[in-house]
Amino acid sequence: MIEGAIRSGKTDGRVATRFPPEPNGYLHIGHSKSIWLNFSLAEEFGGTCNLRFDDTNPEKEDVEFENAIKEDVEWLGYKWTNLYYASDYYDKFYECAVDLIKQGKAYVCELTPEETREYRGKLGEPGKDSPYRNRSVEENLQLFEKMKNGDFAEGKAILRAKIDMASPNMNMRDSAIYRVKKLKHHRTGDKWCIYPMYDFSHCISDALEGITNSLCTLEFEDHRPLYDWFLDQLQHLVGNQHPQQREFAKLKLTYNIVGKRDLRKMVEEKYVSGWDDPRLPTLRALRRRGVSPRAIKGLSEQIGVTKKESVIDMSTFESIIRDDLNTHAHRAMCVLDPIKLTISNWETGKTELLEAPFHPNNESMGHRSLKFSNTVYIEREDFMEVPVEGYRRLIPGGEVRLRYAYIVKCDEVIKDSNGNITELKCSYDPETRSGTGTSTKKVSGVIHWVAKGDCEKCEVRVYDRLFSAEFPGREHDGDFIKDLNPNSLQVFKDALVEGAIASTKPEVQYQFERHGYFVSDRNDCKPGALVFNRVVTLKDGWKK
Ligand code: ATP
Ligand code: MG
Repeated sequence: MIEGAIRSGKTDGRVATRFPPEPNGYLHIGHSKSIWLNFSLAEEFGGTCNLRFDDTNPEKEDVEFENAIKEDVEWLGYKWTNLYYASDYYDKFYECAVDLIKQGKAYVCELTPEETREYRGKLGEPGKDSPYRNRSVEENLQLFEKMKNGDFAEGKAILRAKIDMASPNMNMRDSAIYRVKKLKHHRTGDKWCIYPMYDFSHCISDALEGITNSLCTLEFEDHRPLYDWFLDQLQHLVGNQHPQQREFAKLKLTYNIVGKRDLRKMVEEKYVSGWDDPRLPTLRALRRRGVSPRAIKGLSEQIGVTKKESVIDMSTFESIIRDDLNTHAHRAMCVLDPIKLTISNWETGKTELLEAPFHPNNESMGHRSLKFSNTVYIEREDFMEVPVEGYRRLIPGGEVRLRYAYIVKCDEVIKDSNGNITELKCSYDPETRSGTGTSTKKVSGVIHWVAKGDCEKCEVRVYDRLFSAEFPGREHDGDFIKDLNPNSLQVFKDALVEGAIASTKPEVQYQFERHGYFVSDRNDCKPGALVFNRVVTLKDGWKK
């Protein structure tokens, strides 16, 4: 479409797009598709892309959201050409509305909201003309002025376009242009008590900014004739370079909800800790979860732009995240639920430095050294006193390799008075040092560990999908709360991470070997009080 317009010389080869969020909530993964589409088309064609706050509905809008939206778009790595506010066009919208009245193409209607609905008719059945439809231009101008002056209570009068009450397209049945809302706007204060409808303000905003391609989601496809109608009537005020509206399918993910209203419910009713709770699909939550802008962009690139609604499998996104982190994340060892392992035949006081790469296939990421001595900690679940069939880790009398180190054998299990295991007494085989050992001995299990004296206590938040149903709410009349995954967060307060990353900064991603990908928490991770969030597991555990 864009190439066609360029070839035909329609827009002088210019491409101008915009991303127009309403500042009434935080951006989510769905928005990232619109952001990607608008910004990358502009980039591809050497054009421009504006960030426009579509702030024409004062009810839930706030500057707090504007700041967050700007921060999120920047975090994704995009730079807008201009920053605009639809509220800056209020005088122009008003002028356009008055002009439509003067053309005899708009009227003030005093039907109640119920009557308006009834008069509108049904799909396949024509509507009825409002009794106020044939008011004179003079009367309409006076009444609209009164609306503006606050002489009408909310719901008592609206300004409507005069189009066609029998149109097969419901949006063309004299749609509302302005309604009364006695609310303070966060930017224009008390100046206005009438606010324009989206269908009216959006096309005018696009035209005023010289937008060539107005991309929106599919639910606006039926609104396109109205978009075009307004611009056709108002050419003399907004210019005759008519932006082209085109629609694309929303991005939705299984096992998740997008949509500001539903997200707001999750936050306000405290099912999550806030808008940046790492389980939510908001961009700030994904950031805190440890998902990189590369992976978010990668999702849009992989699924592409379509005209057909579909729900993308969460596994697709997770696998993109995993591939990205596999390339970029430093490796480290972390024991979530530690159990002490002592090596009785290790020389007292001796420490050995073992080398381990930060990345198995990327030398340039360097090495870390692990200080191995006679006491290490291993994962409680890597030992089984009475092993189940096929268990390949440590068992009484059995052997296992400590990754990057030696093969150890469990000689004795020490318990406290309650029967809980407190220590595993082991012996090691000096010939089996990883990489340089002379022994050819092979064991089937390799486990991770951290060394006493070379590890740091940390809190690890193991996140999982927020919902356990593929389509949350589908089986419960839309009540998605019923499908919350009760195990979406598990906290390990006494985990131990290897010393090499004890001084990590926030927002650094790691692969904790054998566990998955983790990130140091953006808000809570401090020197001496480390906190890590699980981004994703190493493999997809949700596949049937
Ligand atoms: P929500 O339904 O979450 O409230 P919205 O469409 O009301 O979203 P806006 O702030 O109006 O949110 O959206 C800004 C832009 O992002 C619009 O152009 C809109 O079409 C687009 N957008 C919103 N949700 C999605 C989505 N799930 N997939 C793709 N684009 C989206
Ligand atoms: Mg909206």
